Amino acid sequence: MPICFRSEYSAAPSRDTNEFPVELRNAIQLLISANHILHYHGLVDAFGHISVRNPMFRNQYILASYNPGAPALVSSAEDFIDYYVSNSEPVFDDQPRGYSERYIHGEIYSRFPHVQCVVHSHSEAVIPFMAARIAVKPVFHMAGFLGVNGPPVLDLSGAYPAMPSYTPDMLIKTPFLGQRLAQKFSHSGSNVSDSSVVLQDKHGFTSIGSNVQQAVYRAIYLQKNCKLLKDAMSLAGGSISKIGYLTQKEAEGCAKMNLMTQDKALRLWLREVAVNPLYRNEEGIPNDLPVGGMQDDA
Ligand SMILES: [Zn+2]
Repeated sequence: MPICFRSEYSAAPSRDTNEFPVELRNAIQLLISANHILHYHGLVDAFGHISVRNPMFRNQYILASYNPGAPALVSSAEDFIDYYVSNSEPVFDDQPRGYSERYIHGEIYSRFPHVQCVVHSHSEAVIPFMAARIAVKPVFHMAGFLGVNGPPVLDLSGAYPAMPSYTPDMLIKTPFLGQRLAQKFSHSGSNVSDSSVVLQDKHGFTSIGSNVQQAVYRAIYLQKNCKLLKDAMSLAGGSISKIGYLTQKEAEGCAKMNLMTQDKALRLWLREVAVNPLYRNEEGIPNDLPVGGMQDDA
C-alpha cells in the first residue's frame, strides 16, 4: 500500500488524496514536481532522490518507492512511501520496495529538526571536483550558500573499520552511515546545521533545506557553480590559484540574497516541467506558492 493518511478520527488509513489534509496534499503535489525539476536540470537520472518531512507528522518523511522510483517517472501519491524518521521503516504495512539509501534522509531529519527537505544527487558536474581533490568554492553570487570555503566532503573510508561486513559500494544504506553523513552538516556537532550541502567523495552530494525550494535551489546552483568553476579553471590554464572566488563577506551577503529569491526560480522550474510531456503530476500542479523577493533596505 503506498502513502496513506490516517487521522485521529478514522480507524483505517485512507489512500484517497482528496481525503488528505490540504497541507499533506500540497506537499505531495510539490514533491512530485520537485522530482521532475531535478531530472529536468540533470541532477538525477534513474538514480538520486528527494524527500520531504511529512507536514502532518514531523516524525515521518515521504520518499519515492523503488518502482517507478526514477524521479522523472513518479506521478502520483501511489509512487511514494511514508517512513518513520527514527528508523526509516515504513509507517504502513505492505509497502512496496524502498530505496536502500533512505537512511540519508531519515538520519538528516532525525538530527536536524529544522530540515524539511533533502535532495541526493550523483551530479556528473560535481563529482569530478572530489575526484580531483579541488574544493567547490563559490565563483558567483548565486552560490553564496556554499560558504567561502565550499561544502565539507564526506569520505566513507574512515568508517570502514567500524563495519567489517560492509561491502564498500559507497551507498548510505545503514543508519550508521546515514549518521556519518548527517554529522557532516554541523561542524559543532549540534543539531543546527552550518552547511547546506555535503559532498560525498566518489558518489555525489546531499543538500538540505527548511523547505523544498531551498533544497532544490541549492542542488541546482551547486551544479551550476561547478560548471562555471570548471570553465574558469579551463580559461586559467588549469590553475586554481588564478580563480576569483567570493570573499567571506561576499559569500555571507550572497547567501542571504539566495534565500530571498528562490521562490522566483521555483515558479519558473515548475512551469518548465508542467509543459514537458515527459512529466506527469496526477495530484495537480502546485500553485499559489508564497512570493518572496529582495527587501528594499539594502
Ligand atoms: Zn547515491
